[in-house]
Amino acid sequence: MNTQELFNFMIKNGMVGEVKYIKAFFTIPYFKNKDEKYETDILLIKDGKVFLKFNNEKLEITTGTFPILDYMEEVVLKAEDWKCLDNDITTTIGIAFQNYLMLELPFQGRYKFVDGVVGKKIEDNISEDLLNKVITTAQYENFVDNCEYLKTWGRYFVQAASRKTLLPPEGITEKKQAIVKRMLAELGEDAFKSQVNIVKLEEELKKIDAEWLKDDPTFGIVTSGKVLNNSRKELFLTVGGVETLDEESSDANFIVNSLLEGWPEDDELFTAMVNALRAGSLARAIDTQNGGLLAKMILRAIGSYIIKPTIDCGTKLGTEFKVDNNNYKDIKNRHVIISNQTVMIDTDDKAKELIGKDLLIRSPKYCNLVGENYCGKCVNKLLNDNIDGIKNEVTAVAQIVLNEALKKMHNTVKSIVKLDKDIFS
Ligand SMILES: [Zn+2]
Repeated sequence: MNTQELFNFMIKNGMVGEVKYIKAFFTIPYFKNKDEKYETDILLIKDGKVFLKFNNEKLEITTGTFPILDYMEEVVLKAEDWKCLDNDITTTIGIAFQNYLMLELPFQGRYKFVDGVVGKKIEDNISEDLLNKVITTAQYENFVDNCEYLKTWGRYFVQAASRKTLLPPEGITEKKQAIVKRMLAELGEDAFKSQVNIVKLEEELKKIDAEWLKDDPTFGIVTSGKVLNNSRKELFLTVGGVETLDEESSDANFIVNSLLEGWPEDDELFTAMVNALRAGSLARAIDTQNGGLLAKMILRAIGSYIIKPTIDCGTKLGTEFKVDNNNYKDIKNRHVIISNQTVMIDTDDKAKELIGKDLLIRSPKYCNLVGENYCGKCVNKLLNDNIDGIKNEVTAVAQIVLNEALKKMHNTVKSIVKLDKDIFS
């Protein structure tokens, strides 16, 4: 069996659902001695030949390499074999397996094949279809189980490092020196006393780094966020602006070196760097605690809120809203007041019809019910249909607070924001 035949064989015999086959085909078998035979429940390798043991048969595999399969290899998928495909396509084994487990098996053609990452968008559709009972709970559970199963493949598939991620961008030190020289000439010798200029320099260096990494398979996946903005920046580009311990001040010490070039020789800068490290580890402990406490307080405060789905408090108040082309989706699933009548907008089309109109959106803010109660018309339809969902909503808010508190030490990017002067007039 060549790659294509082995791929077809795996799909046909449900082997994708068993991690032992994934491990056998996508990892490199460990031979102590090339002349010895290698034998597991699945593979037999001897005399330079590779066999798949399946149902008491030995089928020869002729892909010629180890690992036997690579998730980046291309295969042809026939529309007749896949319910989620309309046409034959050529795609990678990785994409095919992902679609097979996430879409094909659980939903039997309800969602079309995604030739790329089966991502967030489909997940939203699936949640909505589940709420509207277009798909069954069993299908949804199957989907979730398969997603969890896919996660266990991480140890065989996720590329955590590559040649490029281990190295600085080519010639970065010289390039940096040229940029620093140019900026000093343009902006004067005090240029880097300003945080704005430090950020400008960091941004130029990050562009060079992004250019270096652009075709790397880890870029945007594991090489993203804090790895790019914090780790790689300090390792290879520049330590950059280090805040002083004075929280009131916006001053920063500028350390032009990256860790690649070594610690700063200047005593004051070295002290500033070490202080920032110590402050960082202290902030981590305190902010985690504060963030967690705040999240808990919000949950406690809102824990007794109750939605009364069948009651209309009759309020004539709401949030003023002008519907336009860009925002009409915001009123979907909301009750709105038009000409003194409360109307449910439950489809995109109904929302679209209101483009150009001024209306009021019913909101818990204006609900007339007393105490910690909200009527069914003042909340979103989804919440009205699932009144216990309020806990999820509240958890989501608490999550934002917690994330904000933790973000400081996980992924920090300084950026320059241009203020529109008109907002002050
Ligand atoms: Zn109300």
